[in-house]
Amino acid sequence: MNVVWLKKDLRLEDHQPLFEAQKCNEKILLLFIFETELLKDPHYSKRHFDFIKESLQELQTELSKLHTQILIVEGNVVAVFKKLHGLHPIKQVFSHQETGIEITYQRDKALNNWLKSKNIPWQEYVWNGVFRGRKNRTTWKNDWFAFMESNILPAPTNSRAFIKYTEIEQFENYFSIPNLKTKSISNFQKGGVKTGLRYMNSFFDERVQNYSKHISKPELGRKSCSRLSPYITWGNLSVRQVYHEAWKKKQEGKFKTSISNFTSRLRWQAHFIQKFEMESAIEFQSINRAFRNLNQTKNITFQKAWEDGKTGFPLVDACMRCLKETGYLNFRMRALVVSFFTHDLFQPWKDCVHYLAQQFLDFEPGIHYPQIQMQAGVTGINTIRIYNVIKNSYEHDESGTFIRKWIPELQNIPDALIHEPWKITSIEEQLYDFYLGITYPKPIIVPDVARKRATDFFWNIKKSDEAKNDSTRIVAIHTFSDRKSS
Ligand SMILES: Cc1cc2nc3c(=O)[nH]c(=O)nc-3n(C[C@H](O)[C@H](O)[C@H](O)COP(=O)(O)OP(=O)(O)OC[C@H]3O[C@@H](n4cnc5c(N)ncnc54)[C@H](O)[C@@H]3O)c2cc1C
Repeated sequence: MNVVWLKKDLRLEDHQPLFEAQKCNEKILLLFIFETELLKDPHYSKRHFDFIKESLQELQTELSKLHTQILIVEGNVVAVFKKLHGLHPIKQVFSHQETGIEITYQRDKALNNWLKSKNIPWQEYVWNGVFRGRKNRTTWKNDWFAFMESNILPAPTNSRAFIKYTEIEQFENYFSIPNLKTKSISNFQKGGVKTGLRYMNSFFDERVQNYSKHISKPELGRKSCSRLSPYITWGNLSVRQVYHEAWKKKQEGKFKTSISNFTSRLRWQAHFIQKFEMESAIEFQSINRAFRNLNQTKNITFQKAWEDGKTGFPLVDACMRCLKETGYLNFRMRALVVSFFTHDLFQPWKDCVHYLAQQFLDFEPGIHYPQIQMQAGVTGINTIRIYNVIKNSYEHDESGTFIRKWIPELQNIPDALIHEPWKITSIEEQLYDFYLGITYPKPIIVPDVARKRATDFFWNIKKSDEAKNDSTRIVAIHTFSDRKSS
């Protein structure tokens, strides 16, 4: 048999490994592994595995029409393949390429070694326009467009191509089988192709009209942004499917500017992951060598206050509480909470990576690491943006709707005080039954002082010869010329 190993591509349509495997004579076994190592890896949390389970359950329903099922097991990848090969010899393995963290890279290397030792070829295919083995970006942008403009591959229809359900049941006796049940009531987006398509359709039919206008707003952006990121991360939808839909809508002539802004972001998706593909060491160190040994003291009290949404800065706290409850923040708020952590609280960027990864339902290492470093100001090639969290609060949550939604303690505070509750007087405290430092924390830092310290610190390094020299290297490898625009 041939094995199609499902990873972050939980769909049947536009799935090249599945499409190519159907051209062979051997029957196909679809395999998904809940990896023991990833189940306890600090980047991942229950919300990710629940999203995967929801996606898999839906696929099982679809596949029953083809009289097959995915063999879903828990274990170590190499051990699973070894056992499977013993039960039923594997001719070839098909999967997408994965741009992942060190642990998945090492797992792929171990599997590759074992497959080679058994003369089993492993066919891997391009994932969402991210290309392997690139030394620079000379042709990258055109290659990305060529990939996105190529045809969408059809879902399988021939049940004879697959191993029958009954045989898969036999395999199950030899493996640890995970429970696919998830908690049905949660504030997280649900996994699955159908839900992904619903988000995509409602976005292009209606929500896109305010995309550009609301993109930075913490509350309005939740509706006007596509919210497609978890479906793209876990592969319920391919970026090519989304790109084709965007292109069709653009031809209809409505919301052209918003759709162009949106498709640029689809390209950023691959652009960031390509960066990680070419320089995966940024999982462990700043991309720019001048920013690698920063003298920053860990402050656990600050870190905990930030995680719990108890820093005393309403917009930051609302973002952190909302993220914990829903798994989502729009781009600007993600940038703002990272900037607050690394600049205002002056904490090492590495200390926020795992916590945020566990919270973002769409956690994608190839976007996460480069974005955190960019927002922390340690790339040397981007301007250092130290977000003024108070100004952003006034500008993007004018009437405090978002803040009030996530911080019940501030519910009764008038608009005039919602962004800076520390300005409350003692008479007002009694009037609103709100006592600063008791009902809600006092600010844990003095913002102007903190921002001045961070500005001086990071700009001094950015101006150094070491930072400039390494920036030249980074630009040469990771940036591309603007040949064709969307
Ligand atoms: C610190 C930080 C960490 C981030 N971590 C992740 C992550 O783990 N996973 C993730 O998918 N995105 C991440 N992003 C990027 C961005 O914030 C999210 O992709 C976006 O908010 C998802 O919402 P949406 O689908 O409604 O986006 P839309 O604005 O509707 O965009 C559509 C798609 O384009 C891509 N995209 C949008 N903005 C960006 C961007 N700035 N960089 C790269 N791709 C983008 C995403 O795939 C997104 O789903 C991060 C941003 C920051 C600042």
